[in-house]
Amino acid sequence: MTAVSNIYPTASLQAIDAAHHIHPFTDTKELNEEGTRIITRADGVWLTDSDGNRIMDGMAGLWCVQVGHGRPEIADAVHKQMSELSYYNTFFKTTHPPVVALAEKLAQLAPPHMNHVFFCSSGSEANDTVFRMVRHYWAQMGKPEKQVIIGRWNGYHGSTVAGTSLGGMKAMHEQGNMPIPGVHHVDQPYWFGEGGDMSSDEFGIHVARKLVQAIDEIGEDKVAAFIAEPIQGAGGVIIPPETYWPEVKRILKERDILFVADEVICGFGRLGTWFGSEYFGLEPDLMPIAKGLSSGYLPIGGVLVSDRVCEGLIDKGGEFYHGYTYSGHPACAAAALANLEIMESENLIGYVADDIGPYLQQRWKALGDHPLVGEARMVGLMGAIELVPNKGDRSVKFAHEGSVGTMCRDLSFQNGLVMRAVRDSMIISPPLVLSHEEADLLVATTKKTLDATYNELKRTGQV
Ligand SMILES: *Cc1c(COP(=O)(O)O)cnc(C)c1O
Repeated sequence: MTAVSNIYPTASLQAIDAAHHIHPFTDTKELNEEGTRIITRADGVWLTDSDGNRIMDGMAGLWCVQVGHGRPEIADAVHKQMSELSYYNTFFKTTHPPVVALAEKLAQLAPPHMNHVFFCSSGSEANDTVFRMVRHYWAQMGKPEKQVIIGRWNGYHGSTVAGTSLGGMKAMHEQGNMPIPGVHHVDQPYWFGEGGDMSSDEFGIHVARKLVQAIDEIGEDKVAAFIAEPIQGAGGVIIPPETYWPEVKRILKERDILFVADEVICGFGRLGTWFGSEYFGLEPDLMPIAKGLSSGYLPIGGVLVSDRVCEGLIDKGGEFYHGYTYSGHPACAAAALANLEIMESENLIGYVADDIGPYLQQRWKALGDHPLVGEARMVGLMGAIELVPNKGDRSVKFAHEGSVGTMCRDLSFQNGLVMRAVRDSMIISPPLVLSHEEADLLVATTKKTLDATYNELKRTGQV
């Protein structure tokens, strides 16, 4: 065995990492000075670091470990698959049993009008596929001029060139001259941050209608698709006002454009439904998926395709010149199948919808009473807390955006809970197998962390 496990002391692993490893979404210079944290084991909702500390994984890795860490069922399924057929491609008129079974399974789980899936290895690749698929669809349907894709500011659709462009992260756009041509962005339904004097319901309608404006400006004959996350994840768990999705749905019904619901986070039980589209009653034409599809055990993603899109993509004939070496990788498909089997046999969807979801939501929302908290929100097992200097006034923000969030995140880690900071809001998205006791501990640790953050801000005169 040559696997590098915990055989080196923490400091020397950190030194080697600093010498050779460029981390994603990281100021590597800063990290190298600080030293990275080393995770050596994980089981259930618990991580263990190289110094033996146990830390609760409040983010399910990166929003993906639905069934919890260390499930032997998935490891065994992958081992068995790799022993029989570790790799073969799905180009050139071939297929293999695990990819066939997974495609069928996904068609069963997806809304009734979605019966096909295209496989890839990540959410970013899924959205690259979407980009090419929607343009190809319209070309096949005799409308090749329909090319523009409308996304939303502060949306996240991955980090490849297409993903970065479709997403609305301005800091990402600034690096490397994105977005690429043919992408347009409209405002996000972020009432807490951008709702001004409007009520949440008024703002939902107001911001939905920005889509009408954009379509009319660009010209409906040039717009191919609208892409959005049911709930924005990386953007800060932005739960739209109740009026938003019904109004967007109404608008899309009147317009001849495709709707892409990016289900990479909201899919596979995160909201207590198989897909976020189900939760909000959306009827998308395409659904990019990844993350929870395999609980992150192996990399796999895909695009679920509606019967409408299949008319252009399949029925009209002709080759779609698109695919990946690892499209439908057998070991990854086996991991996904084993993961979905666990989700079904343990009824994790029902558990999130009717049990642990409401249980955690109630306790999480009660944190809204804390003097540092402007709003605590959660749907399913996906929540956020807005940290504010002046409780009761949404318009007042901290002086250096993000610094309080970062401080709170670091304190949380010290207290034994991984939360993520987005600007000055705190995010959680725990594994769906979270127990009641673990939920209590998650909330107690968050409370303790909020107190510590508040005390530090008081000490330094920031609140
Ligand atoms: C994470 C994410 C992606 C990108 O997925 P990767 O697997 O990191 O490429 C795309 N869309 C959404 C909504 C995501 O949260």
